[in-house]
Amino acid sequence: MIQLFLPLGFLGFVFREIKGSMANIENMFELLAIKPKVVDRPGAGQLVQTRGAIRFQDVSFGYTAERQILHGVDLAVSPGEKVAVVGPSGSGKSTLVKLLFRFYDPDAGCITIDGQDISRVTQGSLRQAIGIVPQDTVLFNDTIFENVRYGAPDASDESVREAIRLAHLDAFIDSLPAGADTLVGERGLKLSGGEKQRVSIARTILKRPPIMVFDEATSSLDSHSEQAILGALREIAQGHTSLVIAHRLSTVVDADRIVVLEQGRVIESGTHDGLLASDGSYAALWRKQQNAQD
Ligand code: ADP
Ligand code: MG
Repeated sequence: MIQLFLPLGFLGFVFREIKGSMANIENMFELLAIKPKVVDRPGAGQLVQTRGAIRFQDVSFGYTAERQILHGVDLAVSPGEKVAVVGPSGSGKSTLVKLLFRFYDPDAGCITIDGQDISRVTQGSLRQAIGIVPQDTVLFNDTIFENVRYGAPDASDESVREAIRLAHLDAFIDSLPAGADTLVGERGLKLSGGEKQRVSIARTILKRPPIMVFDEATSSLDSHSEQAILGALREIAQGHTSLVIAHRLSTVVDADRIVVLEQGRVIESGTHDGLLASDGSYAALWRKQQNAQD
């Protein structure tokens, strides 16, 4: 998602900046972006959070003018609801997440949170309201412990430890000679995809934002670890609005609603049982994945 093209010295500066002054991890995306694609409007106000309702209204978007990726997407998530977005790779699922976080603005249509157009509020207040566990997690050159704390820089050591436990990161940490003080990142220990995902999950658990977004957040985990973490996430997401992007359908069976995206269009939506009964794309995908597991 981000191209790390900058010299290491500059990255070091960025990391220190972030550690010193930034309220949350996601601001790093801004700092590393080639050029800021979106800026706050003059006089933009704060997002006033009430309940965490998300609404995509007829959203169309392309990264370039030549190629449209999303075509008139409508998607609403009620406060406290868990909505899953599934669909083939390349269908635009992560693009929806990037738009919600306002890395880009839609070409047409709009996105609101609690009725407020996200392009009219400050990016700081928007990103404060949303926690994302992305497909690829970026770690800083710091200890594992501090990497988790980036989720909420003011958090106490005790709550960081709690988040580590809930994200099932503790067994891995205990296996390291320096434990939670182990240095990770480019210049430290390289973590596997699954381990990085757990760090990212721990950050989000610590942040506990009203809106949680999981973009294939457990895709690098084996199915045993995946089930354990999904159980923890289910508890944590209670009462929070959550948008879950998944490749393994078995992980979203319990969602309040499942939306099927294909080539940037919502082609089906309903509950797991409803979608199976209507016997469309979702049902076909479900049967395919069930057979693959046998
Ligand atoms: P998904 O998450 O469903 O696999 P994405 O939203 O990541 O799909 O991608 C949708 C389409 O947009 C893909 O064809 C992908 O190649 C394209 N795309 C994604 N990111 C960029 C980008 N930064 N620039 C140009 N095209 C992109
Ligand atoms: Mg994706």
